[in-house]
Amino acid sequence: MTISKFLYTQAIQCPKSLWLKKYKLEVLSSADASTSAVFETGNIVGELACKLFPDGVEVAFTREYDKMIETTSKLIDAGVKYIYEATFVYDGILVIVDILQIDEDGISIYEVKSSTSVKEIYLHDVSIQYYVLSQLGFSIKSANVVHIDNTYVRGDELDIEALFAIVDVTHEVVELQDAIPYRLEEFEDVLSDKTDEPDIDIGAHCNKPYECDAKEYCWRVQREIPEYSVFNIFNLGSKKQVALYKQGIVDIKDILDDFDMTDKQFEAVSNYKSRKSYIDKESIRAFVDALSYPIYHLDFETFQQAIPEFKGISPFMQIPFQYSLHIEQKDGKLEHHEFLADDGVDPREELAKKLCNDIPRDVTVLTYNMHFEKGVIKKLASEYKEYSSQLLDISDNIKDLMAPFQKKQYVTPSMMGSYSIKYVLPALVPDMKDAYESLDGVQNGTDAMSAFATLSSLDTDEKQKMRKALLEYCKLDTLAMVKILGALKRVVDD
Ligand code: SF4
Repeated sequence: MTISKFLYTQAIQCPKSLWLKKYKLEVLSSADASTSAVFETGNIVGELACKLFPDGVEVAFTREYDKMIETTSKLIDAGVKYIYEATFVYDGILVIVDILQIDEDGISIYEVKSSTSVKEIYLHDVSIQYYVLSQLGFSIKSANVVHIDNTYVRGDELDIEALFAIVDVTHEVVELQDAIPYRLEEFEDVLSDKTDEPDIDIGAHCNKPYECDAKEYCWRVQREIPEYSVFNIFNLGSKKQVALYKQGIVDIKDILDDFDMTDKQFEAVSNYKSRKSYIDKESIRAFVDALSYPIYHLDFETFQQAIPEFKGISPFMQIPFQYSLHIEQKDGKLEHHEFLADDGVDPREELAKKLCNDIPRDVTVLTYNMHFEKGVIKKLASEYKEYSSQLLDISDNIKDLMAPFQKKQYVTPSMMGSYSIKYVLPALVPDMKDAYESLDGVQNGTDAMSAFATLSSLDTDEKQKMRKALLEYCKLDTLAMVKILGALKRVVDD
């Protein structure tokens, strides 16, 4: 058996995943934009973390691992103190150590992660490195996880000592050692049959700790789980979902009335079964009547940086870079304002200033899922004293267009128990059902985030095209809100 530490951790999640990655690669989904962005961030964070251990030597990556192993061995013999991407193999298990520290009295392993805490799967990741190196005869002083400290706030300069946290996980990793030979035996057994897939059913493990890239194959193709099933019941929890599935209940219509659910889940299930819409006209009237004109329909786009580029920013903080604003008058007249930051600069102050110019005090501001917009605005208010009072006024005046759907005052079967705008918009405004799909380039928040992050690397024409796509996407968000509110008003007026 040959297995990398990556495959080892995948196999811990599910041995079938290991088998598919070895023998049936074609059924796996390729990485989407957000997965690729996570990998890219991981690479950048990994490179930066090396600066914590300066003057080291990197083993250049090549698919010819023997060369990497040979280079590592030469660097150790030459007395190099820090080796980045140090590569070893023992009994077919290949590990690449992010940072290896070599002292006279032993070595230390550092595994770099772009997350903000030590997750359980990381311990398995480090444990297999520890296993290989100890089997090769190294004396190991410590095993560590290096992760981002999200309490760090960047000053004028980036302080990498403060940006990273180093957690000694030697004790936890040593405790895992005894189990490793048994696990490896199990994985070897799984891989010994190259023809028959392991008979492992789907379940909560398909999403934990990572969403498996074989889900399309195992769930849709093999088990024929439809797009909307018991696994989509809002907040039901994987334990109950899997319990239903194990009883052979996949279609929501087959759930028995006495199944343990909250009132809201029960309502959503009953609604789905009856195929009827439920509209609480009086509550919707109260919501609509509480809105005074003009109404400012607002939507932000934000992005995050693992490594803060600008002063005052923390790792993974939501940084607003764009907004769209549709101002709706009582007679239906619409006016559109928008902001999209230049790339490569801190967008926050300019955005705060423009927002205060565009939204006066004491007006109704409507957002979809107000907690997000309120959080962004309050953070801006705490950062820019000059605009603080007006920003807090805007935040205080925000009302949530999601509320009638979240409170189940308007429910249709096609919303499939969700109050996400993705389901609400086509249910209330069928004309706009394909509106997002027909956009060119940016079709959702994740696309917008990665589009903005890549702007700096594009040439002028491409950049202009991408900026246009970003503006169109965000504009559609607030236009969708105008249309949804229009549909609610028609319900009240009928
Ligand atoms: S989708 Fe689930 S069952 Fe299939 S390989 Fe992945 S984790 Fe295993």
